[in-house]
Amino acid sequence: MRKPLYVIGLAILINSCASTKPVKQSSTNTKTNQPTKTATPKTPQPAAAKPTIKSESGYDFYKVNIADASKNDNTISYGSIVSANPNGYKVVKSFFPAVAQNFRQKYIILHYTALDDDKSVTVLTQQSVSSHYLVNSHSDREIYQLVDENKRSYHAGVSSWRNDTSLNDTSIGIEIVNAGYKVDSSGIKIFPEFDNHQIKKVGALVKDIADRYMIPPTNILAHSDIAPTRKQDPGPKFPWKQLYEDYQIGMWYDAPVKDGFLSQTTPENFAMQSGNSEFIYSYQLALKKLGYGLEASGRVDDATKKTIEAFQYHFRPENYDGVMDAESWAILQALNQKYAAK
Ligand SMILES: [Zn+2]
Repeated sequence: MRKPLYVIGLAILINSCASTKPVKQSSTNTKTNQPTKTATPKTPQPAAAKPTIKSESGYDFYKVNIADASKNDNTISYGSIVSANPNGYKVVKSFFPAVAQNFRQKYIILHYTALDDDKSVTVLTQQSVSSHYLVNSHSDREIYQLVDENKRSYHAGVSSWRNDTSLNDTSIGIEIVNAGYKVDSSGIKIFPEFDNHQIKKVGALVKDIADRYMIPPTNILAHSDIAPTRKQDPGPKFPWKQLYEDYQIGMWYDAPVKDGFLSQTTPENFAMQSGNSEFIYSYQLALKKLGYGLEASGRVDDATKKTIEAFQYHFRPENYDGVMDAESWAILQALNQKYAAK
């Protein structure tokens, strides 16, 4: 069997992929893809140097893999490589990993089930909703996987964040067993606490997923963030601040920056401006800039109230009355300053 060589598929590759640095291969295909010792340069070649090409049976080959692993380590990283198995043909896996690629998994969305453990498993495995992972209520070491990470699970529904919609396509969904809210006699939603062992499971799980797919803090979100008019989960008892501090997960504001914004106005001045349409318009725009799917109208409509409530569940959980008060406004500005949309 001849040594693996690399077919030149496109002439443009000669000019655009000048690196002769050998590609680090995953442990699964090290043997088949490793360049020969004689073909491996000991020192990096100048950028303009062309890689060595060899002709064989009328085809031109590179003698080493010209792809630059440092630019697309997605290929050499995680999980299985799922390939076709066409009848009568062989899919060759000693390939050029393309630079132009990324992960499909861009978001992690957190939920609570509003059901107990048994019902959560039944509903999420037997009905029309599902999630990739289910964190049970037990203080054991188990986290259930219900759907392969490369497949879609049906957890987000109609949803949006920044320029993305229908986030089932691009997210990993995590359901946490929790009873969900009850409405008290005065109409206030009362949410139950999460057990700390659940939060530890969620922290470790989200950290692992975010690291593997390089998911940015702005894309680790509550179901209520991406569907604020429909959803409340995982609610204000979910400890986003703790996860940010203990696991570097998701977004959180810097307290001194928030205090700086807060000090720019007095309670009296804030109360005076809070009802005017110019101010309403500006905080609607700020919510939209952070990521919420809200249209700026200058009027406090139902969608605006629910979006503020969702924002407060996540970032100011002590009071989630859906009113843009001075502290919520300062936190929103501090977040936008830190996590500007790219
Ligand atoms: Zn949900």
